[in-house]
Amino acid sequence: MLLLATYCLIVLTVSDASASHDNRNLRNVPVSYEGAQVWRTTITNDAQMSLIRKLHDDRDISLWRLTPDHGDFLIHATRKVDVNRRLSSQPYNMNHTVLVLDVQHRLDSLATPTPTWTGKTLKLGHRLDFTFYPELDVINEYLSAISTQYKSLSEIQTIGYSVENRTIQMAVVSNKNPKNAAILIVAGVHAREWIGVTSALYILDQLLNDFDNHPVHVKNIDWYIIPVVNPDGYEYSHKKDRLWKKNRRKFPNCCGVDLNRNFGKYWSMNDATSKKQCRENYAGTKEFSEPESSAVQSVIETVKISAFVDIHAFGQELNYPWAATAERTPHGKVLHDVAKDMSKAILSKNGSTYKFGSGYRKINPTYGSAVDFMYSEGVHHAYAIETRDTGQYGFLLPPEQIVDTGKELVAAMCCVAKALEPQPQFRSKACHDWF
Ligand SMILES: [Zn+2]
Repeated sequence: MLLLATYCLIVLTVSDASASHDNRNLRNVPVSYEGAQVWRTTITNDAQMSLIRKLHDDRDISLWRLTPDHGDFLIHATRKVDVNRRLSSQPYNMNHTVLVLDVQHRLDSLATPTPTWTGKTLKLGHRLDFTFYPELDVINEYLSAISTQYKSLSEIQTIGYSVENRTIQMAVVSNKNPKNAAILIVAGVHAREWIGVTSALYILDQLLNDFDNHPVHVKNIDWYIIPVVNPDGYEYSHKKDRLWKKNRRKFPNCCGVDLNRNFGKYWSMNDATSKKQCRENYAGTKEFSEPESSAVQSVIETVKISAFVDIHAFGQELNYPWAATAERTPHGKVLHDVAKDMSKAILSKNGSTYKFGSGYRKINPTYGSAVDFMYSEGVHHAYAIETRDTGQYGFLLPPEQIVDTGKELVAAMCCVAKALEPQPQFRSKACHDWF
């Protein structure tokens, strides 16, 4: 291992400033995004779409979000002139707007150090309060504290260990009713999507808080919540590279597997770039090659899960299978109805608009995703949610939006719980109120 790390270090000394962009970063110094920007381009034809894809494939840009009509991407300082020239050349004629003028400046302005202990937090046993993005140790404090405070209602299970041997923890909340259906919620599959992690924690917090007064359809569910599927990547994104996405598996030239490409359904199908180790969507050497995705798989081997929710960022979308193909699933109508209910519940909660539909996008299919795997294993309610926002902040959502985003996810989860009732009534008002 030491030899491998040394080799990676040598590679890095000769690589350019966009080490993180190349997914090679193994250095023990924080990655700087000085001079990097986030651009948006409007896409109106196939040639323009192909150019954006090519720039991404060639690692001139790092795509944050691609929709049929626009692309948002990060561009390093050294690439700006060349990429601008190519965008504006014939036949593309593409303009861009700047969404983030200086990524490093934005990172610095958003930095919120972990609060020191106070009398209040010492009494609580944790420092989580949804005003900042918690590091892993704060999340672990919280999980440990709730397992004591809500002993009769919750427990914390270790479901596996990461590549770097960190525990992967799952909170279970249950009133022990033997007839309960089970919902599995996962977040933090992608390291930089911090808002997904806080949203999962917020759901957990709201469940435990005043549990007895929740509606029956919320109480009569066994809730399984894994807030951080990818603890190594999450820690790395806090300590070294805010925009790190994958896990921290070390390979000779690059690091990391995209865990949402590593599940055992449609794994690496028709996807040449996902076979390359240095790509952000590297799918791994085989399906479930990674301990983090295997840990999630292990849950459904021991528990009968009725609904699965994978929380990601960003884009404000409620997606259901398939993510890899345009083929319709047999449960498409029900999935559509529940996603529509979720969208309405979120709208009525905060006025936010979440689009919904099958996850498959002709422009951007996802192979080897968790949501497709769960559906293929008989979890017929399977949803991949992209939380806030639609691009203004992207992955760098200010912590002031943690609570409102959490509320949106709680409203959505209430609808999923409602859908698991023996005779669910879709578009029911009752799905909107939880707290
Ligand atoms: Zn994601």
